[in-house]
Amino acid sequence: MSSILDTPLLKEAVASCHYFWEAGWGEFHAGNLSYLLSEEELADLKPFFRDDPIRVPVAFDTCGLEGRYFLATRSGGQFRTLPNRVERDMGIIRVVEGAYEIVWGYEDGAGRPTSETPAHLLCHAARLSQNPDNRIVMHCHPTYLNAMSTIADMSEEALTKTLWSLNSECVLVFPDGVGVLPWMKCGEGPIGPATAEKMKTYRVVVWPYHGIFASGSSFDETIGLIETIDKNAHVYVSVGGNIKQCITDEQVHELADHFGLETAF
Ligand SMILES: [Zn+2]
Repeated sequence: MSSILDTPLLKEAVASCHYFWEAGWGEFHAGNLSYLLSEEELADLKPFFRDDPIRVPVAFDTCGLEGRYFLATRSGGQFRTLPNRVERDMGIIRVVEGAYEIVWGYEDGAGRPTSETPAHLLCHAARLSQNPDNRIVMHCHPTYLNAMSTIADMSEEALTKTLWSLNSECVLVFPDGVGVLPWMKCGEGPIGPATAEKMKTYRVVVWPYHGIFASGSSFDETIGLIETIDKNAHVYVSVGGNIKQCITDEQVHELADHFGLETAF
């Protein structure tokens, strides 16, 4: 391959980032993503890495992820325009003790990975402790879920059960439920560790009046998870939260039992 942009992972990552914008989940600078490279992907991408990695010391916990490589969107990048500026708005870092090294991208090393990188690494470590196949952590702003968070009971149990009640597919896609944090200041600070703590239990954590952190073992799985949640949040807000009839709790559990799924609630 003559360009890193022709590798299967970069093609999928770029198309997925653009989809996040098309879906309305990543306006302007909103949204960021990190992806843990597999050994095969690393072998594919390594020929394109810099000979002189740029070492960036960090004060945050690297969570035992030393030696791992992550593809991550750039701080200040935009999902809408990313496909036209991949080498500027994406990059690959290698986590090392007390630092990360930029091995590719970010405008030839002048830029930096997402400012949410500390939260991403914490969340990767949390998800990997539950599922060694987890690859993605991503943050975005799904419109209908944000709308729902202004009118629905947002306890984890109530939100999860409301979504499960709206479509038979929901409990099948996220039997593990949806985690919810109280509103917190975004950026560096307690919200990252709080999100990671929730990710020990949930693949998705809602930040009310802001968006979500979602995770998964592939782009398809993660996008599917967000789509399913946001689709049903759309249904909820379309009726103004006035649900006269829906799938009962008992029926949800019948469905889960039929597919051999354990439910969070
Ligand atoms: Zn955000």
